[in-house]
Amino acid sequence: MSKPDSRAETAARIRHLLDTEGDAVAENTRGFNRGRYESTGELADYEALKDEARAIKEDAIERLPELIDDLREAVEARGGHLYVADDAADANAYVREVVDGDNVVKSKSMTTEELDLNEALAADDARVTETDLGEWVLQLADEAPSHIVGPAIHKSREGIADLFAETFDLDGDDRPETAEELTRFAREKLLADIREADVGVTGANFLTADSGTMALVTSEGNARKTVVVPDTHVAVAGVEKVIPSVENLAPFVELIGRSGTGQDITSYVSLFTPPVPSPPVEFGEARRASAERTASAKPDAPMADPGTAAGDGATEAHPDREFHLVLVDNGRLDMREDDDLRETLYCIRCGACSNSCGNFQSVGGHAFGGETYSGGIATGWEAGVEGLDTAAEFNDLCTGCSRCVPACPVQIDIPWINTVVRDRINRGADPGAFDPLVEGLTPDDEPAGLAPSKRLFGNFETLARLGSATAPLSNWGSNLGPVRAAMDRWLGVAPERDLPAFERETLVDWFAARGGPRVSERLARREAVVYPDVYTNYADVDRGKAVVRTLEALGVRVHVPGSAAVASGRAPLSQGMIETARGKAERCLDALLPEIDAGRDVVVIEPSDLAAFDREYGKLIPETDADRLADGCYEVLEYVYGLLENGADPGGLTGGDGDAVAYHAHCQQRTLELEPYTVAVLERLGYDVTTSETECCGMAGSFGYKSAYYELSMDVGEPLVEQFGDADRVLASGTSCGEQLDALLDSSPEHPIKAIAPL
Ligand code: SF4
Repeated sequence: MSKPDSRAETAARIRHLLDTEGDAVAENTRGFNRGRYESTGELADYEALKDEARAIKEDAIERLPELIDDLREAVEARGGHLYVADDAADANAYVREVVDGDNVVKSKSMTTEELDLNEALAADDARVTETDLGEWVLQLADEAPSHIVGPAIHKSREGIADLFAETFDLDGDDRPETAEELTRFAREKLLADIREADVGVTGANFLTADSGTMALVTSEGNARKTVVVPDTHVAVAGVEKVIPSVENLAPFVELIGRSGTGQDITSYVSLFTPPVPSPPVEFGEARRASAERTASAKPDAPMADPGTAAGDGATEAHPDREFHLVLVDNGRLDMREDDDLRETLYCIRCGACSNSCGNFQSVGGHAFGGETYSGGIATGWEAGVEGLDTAAEFNDLCTGCSRCVPACPVQIDIPWINTVVRDRINRGADPGAFDPLVEGLTPDDEPAGLAPSKRLFGNFETLARLGSATAPLSNWGSNLGPVRAAMDRWLGVAPERDLPAFERETLVDWFAARGGPRVSERLARREAVVYPDVYTNYADVDRGKAVVRTLEALGVRVHVPGSAAVASGRAPLSQGMIETARGKAERCLDALLPEIDAGRDVVVIEPSDLAAFDREYGKLIPETDADRLADGCYEVLEYVYGLLENGADPGGLTGGDGDAVAYHAHCQQRTLELEPYTVAVLERLGYDVTTSETECCGMAGSFGYKSAYYELSMDVGEPLVEQFGDADRVLASGTSCGEQLDALLDSSPEHPIKAIAPL
């Protein structure tokens, strides 16, 4: 259970990271993100490439044991060795034996971070030097990576200059300051270490089972030197890195740089089939002696180019080379058997899910990350390789906004992995002191030990029903100082937030009281059910009325049946309460499918409910039912757009007459690619629309209400202040987005339907 003290600690830790690392992380991740939009936008068929990449990974993980056998055969045929390590201790023991206390240079590898390989090698007095600039900076600073692709993105140039000056005792003209000077300084230091190294340790982005080829995708050239300079090469990679063939590399090479750093192609894409054919590189005296030996033995033989297949007999492995491939299981083979965590193994570690995440942009991987991995997918990795306890430390930072989903080049449902792990964490929690108090009061299907704040937010439907039935007393009472203080202390509800005010007359009651549908069956262009979601039905009844009036003005026969006033399950889902959400999904299905079967369209106002129908119901209820529901549902402005496109007369609607509006679409609405409909309708009705550029406003349903995350939530929304701070009229599709904009801008945002509804 999340206790007041631990919430305060979480808030303090986040505040510290916002102050110390937030600016650098935000600048870098937002830059990567913009690059991704530009670079993937130039692809002729981005979605087809993602489909191809996904299919290759699905196939590879399905056939993994067979592919590992093929890879072993290919590696051993060249004289290399392949070892499958059960866990970190096993992998480290193998590498220690190979290294035997010698000097090691290492290229960037998250898998070796996962193993704590450097620490293991240090036990034998081996000197290990990281050769990736970011990793080297962190090695000097004794810090952990904050991003899986850009490990030192939390550090500023000035901070790195100070670090170098302090570590190497530099001052005056010797002190490097500019990015170029810092890079040159690091390059000289690292080249000296590479020259002296006995063993090169690398990771591998991909390993092909057909030939034993490994692909290294890097922004710097030192990984290549790590492979070819020392005579011994150890590659350490998770078992999931194996793909069937060299041909399969193509879509990944296209996608990995574009997705991660926004580069059309990463600076270095190196393919090696180790042991490589070139001789180990020698320097100074050793090189001269070696050259003389070679010249006297074969005077006409060309010099092999290090790292390439040039020269006489170059396709053969060079006899002086030693190669060891360590494939690491460490929980991965169990993940492969786990229906929900299996998808994690498709991850190609591009970092796009981190860059596209609003929370990550503000605090980076030192808050949104575990022992090794960071960002949205870290929950899957950490739960699989470390365990639920590690995942529990940061899993709440995934708000389920889904902005990472279209960014992921292998289409992993990252929010679902986070939801499943949250559910498992909830189920593993110890029973709490409050359980006897809430037992029987909260109509959920969750176990004892669930944090009271999760139970509160997950049961929002019950709260809303009660609040509406007792309004206005409930609104007055819930805002009393002592009540808010108690809610903060015991339930973790941020006192800074305004609570929703409930209406005594619900949308369903209002619709029934006015006499039901007003457009006759004979004249109706379409027949629709407006889904009375929890918030619209009990709190923002006005936007529901505006929807009814708008659709009727466009010739739709509208119904708002009381039977449909059931929650979608979005609220419990966001708290990881999957069984409770499943129950609500079944009720929702029972209410809405008969309407669809009767030929009625279902019009949904709240984007997060539509996203639940469209994206999550397939995991909660039979897929065929979920598909039927999703096919019959429309986001309200999407529906209006369709009506207008099909000839409905907009004359009865309110027009903008050139008025400027600032519009923020809900993050899940963007993932479903529905934002353009709202913009098109507003423009068609004469508004001058500016759309927001942020991925997420930071509120993300209940996230911004939680006292531990209030400051983070406000920081995530800060770019909206910069963009919309001077706007006279602000529109937002999501309930929580509207509340966040209200807090950030001190204005009163409206749902876009209110801008076009008949007066
Ligand atoms: S989950 Fe997808 S977006 Fe995230 S790092 Fe892995 S491949 Fe990239």
